[in-house]
Amino acid sequence: MYFYGEVKMNFINGKTKPLAIIGYPVGHSLSPLMHNIFFQFLGLNNVYIPLEIKPGHLQAAIEALWTLGFMGANITIPYKEEVIPLLPEISSEAELIGAVNTLVRKENGFRGHNTDGQGFLKALSIEKGWEPHGKKVVILGAGGSARAIGISLALKGAHKITIINRNLLRARGITEIVEKQIGVHGEIFGWNNPMLERVIREGDIIINTTPLGMNPNINEIPPLDTKWLSPSQLLVDLIYNPLETRLMKEAKAQGCQVSNGLGMLIYQGVLSFKLWTGQEPPLENIRETLEKYLNKV
Ligand code: NAP
Repeated sequence: MYFYGEVKMNFINGKTKPLAIIGYPVGHSLSPLMHNIFFQFLGLNNVYIPLEIKPGHLQAAIEALWTLGFMGANITIPYKEEVIPLLPEISSEAELIGAVNTLVRKENGFRGHNTDGQGFLKALSIEKGWEPHGKKVVILGAGGSARAIGISLALKGAHKITIINRNLLRARGITEIVEKQIGVHGEIFGWNNPMLERVIREGDIIINTTPLGMNPNINEIPPLDTKWLSPSQLLVDLIYNPLETRLMKEAKAQGCQVSNGLGMLIYQGVLSFKLWTGQEPPLENIRETLEKYLNKV
């Protein structure tokens, strides 16, 4: 740690070890801001940069990261699945989820991990005191994040995983793993299923993993009647821009506890950071800092 005038900072020098986020696009990502704050605060000689990699160039990018001495990386949309065959080893959870969001440098190449589902669970545990054991879970959407969250919840003892999605085959892909490989009951429904009301009313937690309601489409909302929600339920929207979605507002009006996606974003990052550095990052002001940044951009 050095001073530049009055400002205390780590300078990049000849010994700085780089990390990166790889995706397409990556311009919206909050991870560079968050991880560089963590490195600065802890006085670690690292820097974290965004690398936008055009489709067709992922293999070259991973090889380049290795050659250039990168300590690790995050992998984001659309490469979380495509990166798997490029890695010599991945964790058992990443294997079950079928996606990798974190690379850690080892002797013979990068090891792949998935911290998305665990990050989601850690955020709810720390910020809401919510634990998955024995809970009935309803997930809206069946994409990459639904998969990571559904499988992680099942691994942590959720009672039932219900997926509501347009594409039922995609939903079935998640419940098959949950049932056959973890032994937790799974159900799938389309949005027009007449049982939808019962399913939503029965859920202990409702998790929106669709992009409906995300900036700039802030008036959109998943196609369910929010009058079905009740005060005993927790409603989580993975969206964090806006910080409060229309779904969250309507759920709050029904008396639900609500949470946005910033917690998941922060804690998946915390878990990646620990894999890279073995250290616990400082979290006192991080949520407020990211909220302020989002309110400005
Ligand atoms: P994804 O793989 O593209 O999946 C999106 C899902 O939403 C799909 O199941 C899709 O249904 C459904 N969907 C999309 N448009 C829809 C519509 N008009 N009506 C009904 N369903 C619709 O995306 P993802 O990676 O899972 O990300 C999903 C959301 O989570 C995004 O908003 C993303 O920003 C957010 N996210 C947040 C975090 C965080 O840290 N907070 C992390 C990851 C993702 P079909 O299968 O039927 O097409």
